[in-house]
Amino acid sequence: MLLINCPLCGPRAQAEFNFERPVETIIGVDVPTAELVERLYTRTNARGPSAELWRHARGCRAWLRIERHTVTHVIASVAVWEPQS
Ligand SMILES: [Zn+2]
Repeated sequence: MLLINCPLCGPRAQAEFNFERPVETIIGVDVPTAELVERLYTRTNARGPSAELWRHARGCRAWLRIERHTVTHVIASVAVWEPQS
């Protein structure tokens, strides 16, 4: 069972969280269309470290930035999401 250490609640089962998306796919409304298409639809989806946006949906409901390895699922860090980071 994968545990995610929520900064506000402590270690909780992954089942309490919802994966939202990779951070790189969060795009502002002022980004040109060509760049938007490239960032959303031509990503490499590479294996390895990934910065992701998750939500503690069945807990404190906070949005979290999680650094996770996509193959081993080892979590390097968990922080409350700051939209400008
Ligand atoms: Zn929480």
